[in-house]
Amino acid sequence: MNQPYILIVEDEEKIARLLADYLQQAGYRSTWLADGLSVDNEVRQHKPDLVILDLMLPGRDGLEVCRALRQFSAVPIIMLTARVEEIDRLLGLEMGADDYVCKPFSPREVVSRVRALLRRANGHLLAEHPDHPRDGLYLDEERFQAKLDGQALDLTPVEFRLLATLHAHPGRVFGRESLLQKIYADHRIVSERTVDSHVKNLRRKLIEAAPERDLVQSVYGIGYRWGD
Ligand code: CA
Repeated sequence: MNQPYILIVEDEEKIARLLADYLQQAGYRSTWLADGLSVDNEVRQHKPDLVILDLMLPGRDGLEVCRALRQFSAVPIIMLTARVEEIDRLLGLEMGADDYVCKPFSPREVVSRVRALLRRANGHLLAEHPDHPRDGLYLDEERFQAKLDGQALDLTPVEFRLLATLHAHPGRVFGRESLLQKIYADHRIVSERTVDSHVKNLRRKLIEAAPERDLVQSVYGIGYRWGD
């Protein structure tokens, strides 16, 4: 049996147990760490399929943990926060979480976010053969790396997913709303303007790597598409 493995990092035992119970019922295996100090090791050694990470932790807070994980891993991360206002600030920091859930939460809701993120992680981001990248773009989902014309791109996780989504369907026009759904597990918390700013940053990075190409094109009034 190949049960997905979820790592819960949470200092409140009651919350951790509740999550573990619901995850188990949903068919997931989980373990629990009560502080932020040993997370890196656990992720390196046992490669969880997803991490549920509390923001306020003893030892090292969720923010630092998240940044540290993103140095070496693309594991999907759901951040638990105590206040809804906190989420806006965290989004602005771009530290690399994939989704945010505000406490108090319904465990059922968390499980459905877990399911959505795992589906996305296993789904449309197909790694390509490094010797034959289409349009000169090489995406390595395992290592969260992208190269354009052999040149490494320094992308945030959101930019990476945005790029992978557009690139997977050349020529198809994606509306902002549908891009939001693809790049965030819960897109209700972000506005369509957010997509524009991510696209702007992504384009700047693509242009730096290949100035003569216009790979992400705007379609006026609708959205964006991949083209070459
Ligand atoms: Ca806490």
